[in-house]
Amino acid sequence: MLNVEYGIGSKTFKSEDYLGNIESTLTAFYPDAAGTLKLYIAPVDRKEKDGEHFLSATLIFPHPSEKDKDTHIRRKGAFDNMFDTFKQVIKAQIKQLSCEHAYITMTDGFGTPYRDGTGRCKHCELETRNVIPADNAKPFYLINTTFNGAYVAQFDWPENIRVSAGGTSIPSGKAFFEAYPTVRGIGTFIRGASTTIPEAEKIAFEKYNRYLSCKSHDWERTVNGMHRTDGCATCKHCGMFSSKALPPETLCMVCNAPTKQTWLDGHICTRHYFDLPIQTRLNQELSEGWKDDVNGMARGRDAEFDWVHEEKQFLLESRLHEHFYEKLGEEKYDIHRDYIQSIGFRFTTNIRMHLFKLGVWDNFNEYHDTSMNNPGIQAFFAYLSEQSPAIIEHMSGTSKEDGIDWSLVPGKYKGADV
Ligand SMILES: [Zn+2]
Ligand SMILES: [Zn+2]
Ligand SMILES: [Zn+2]
Repeated sequence: MLNVEYGIGSKTFKSEDYLGNIESTLTAFYPDAAGTLKLYIAPVDRKEKDGEHFLSATLIFPHPSEKDKDTHIRRKGAFDNMFDTFKQVIKAQIKQLSCEHAYITMTDGFGTPYRDGTGRCKHCELETRNVIPADNAKPFYLINTTFNGAYVAQFDWPENIRVSAGGTSIPSGKAFFEAYPTVRGIGTFIRGASTTIPEAEKIAFEKYNRYLSCKSHDWERTVNGMHRTDGCATCKHCGMFSSKALPPETLCMVCNAPTKQTWLDGHICTRHYFDLPIQTRLNQELSEGWKDDVNGMARGRDAEFDWVHEEKQFLLESRLHEHFYEKLGEEKYDIHRDYIQSIGFRFTTNIRMHLFKLGVWDNFNEYHDTSMNNPGIQAFFAYLSEQSPAIIEHMSGTSKEDGIDWSLVPGKYKGADV
């Protein structure tokens, strides 16, 4: 049985029957096909929303050769000819389920070999891990891109950093490669842009080497031609960017300590921010958020500003921030605020999905009890407390991974099973 869904970010067609029609047509033709077929539909040229569209169809199913990871079969085609693409995907699945595999080293779309032991069957293209000797001598970065499939980083980036990359569906478009390495203790952001991802990566890696070989950084508050008061700066010699190289020029309205956190018409330090009653913080943050929405700033959501949802989300995240502020103290909290923010997002998403059975992007509503009276919420915070030592160890750099399963995949969350 096939289950047809839209992939995240796909252009969706509002008709209720749309996916159902595809599903019943495919089931009639291929009664033995099984798995989830994810459709990604987007304009070929992003600026031409009404122009030609392309379709990417990915069939996701558990293959007996690959025990704990789903197998993905992905094909691209024209939106107008979608059943042709579906046929290719389903035929490939039939072949993979009956093949006697012969594995060769897997390569990405640019011919770069995987070094993690993943092989690809030369007959049916099935990808399987642990079938080729792995090369663990240097870090292996595998990046999933929307338009260019999987990309293996080609340069010797340091271990355990965040990297991302992307291309476009049109040959004249811009590809990018981004990395967030640490250069002699200072975190930075590097972006390379060019016509292909490998060229963009080369540009980014050249920048990284320039930063490494700069003997002594000389910071100035001019970033991209603009004077920054928030502590962001670039090095006059090598161009390296840092958001924390210099103290902010703006001062706390209570104690005059340098801080970049805005509050009313001025600024406030972390300690004095948390000293404010939670209701005061809530009212202020929500009215700021609402103003952004009214001014048409991107909020990452299509929906209108939803007060009920935002209030519940803020109270949960704020409880989590206070938890880490108390555990870490002001200085460390300020250093790790962005990471704590990302934990807050994953935490509340897990609560939405696993406690209230909502979708990734569904909002809380008035019926969802997110207060500490709810035993489910208590269990989530108990899980957070239990995991805090591991998270803090991760922040202090003694552990590479935070060790927490913050996965957004349903069923994977290990805490608070209510
Ligand atoms: Zn095979
Ligand atoms: Zn420098
Ligand atoms: Zn202060």
